[in-house]
Amino acid sequence: MDQYAWSESDFVGGHPFLNFLNTVADTDKSRDEDKIPDWRNVRAWASQSGLLSSMELEHFLANQKLDGVRELADLHHFREDAYQAVSNVIGIKPSRSNAMDSTRMRISSAFTRGRFERSDYGFAWRANPKMRERWADALALSLNALLCSDDLRRVRQCARCTWFFIDRGRGVGRRWCDMRTCGNRAKIAAFRCN
Ligand SMILES: [Zn+2]
Repeated sequence: MDQYAWSESDFVGGHPFLNFLNTVADTDKSRDEDKIPDWRNVRAWASQSGLLSSMELEHFLANQKLDGVRELADLHHFREDAYQAVSNVIGIKPSRSNAMDSTRMRISSAFTRGRFERSDYGFAWRANPKMRERWADALALSLNALLCSDDLRRVRQCARCTWFFIDRGRGVGRRWCDMRTCGNRAKIAAFRCN
């Protein structure tokens, strides 16, 4: 697959981990179009996602030999387990029971392999860039940060597709991942029905 042209509209989740879950595109709830099917696309996504600091990103990109077929499959499994787990946490639907367990184990092992380092705001857990699991570990630590933050209660899913976002608005609340895509399509569909 050619490199997907990542744009601002791929990063509407409001959190790096939600944007990772949103690397599957669909226009319903099918989760049928993977935008990171290879490492080239994972790296291109990561470069724009804000998941890693610029220094971490540099270290990750310098060790590309660590990124193999197994690690990519593992990343995809983690994404779909975490999709189920986040859905479950925000009360959308019951997840497969093993998705919750495997997500918890993934976070736990990311801490075991990770490093506790000084950050802009004190100290933070970081994935070790020399480990094969580094990408999934960085994402698991990001998920953990989301689960422990105030933002969790503002996580919503788009009324049309499977994308998640943080609703920072007041009042009625945001229904769509992006007005320019799902919001518009929903308006057009409503118009046709009338
Ligand atoms: Zn949507």
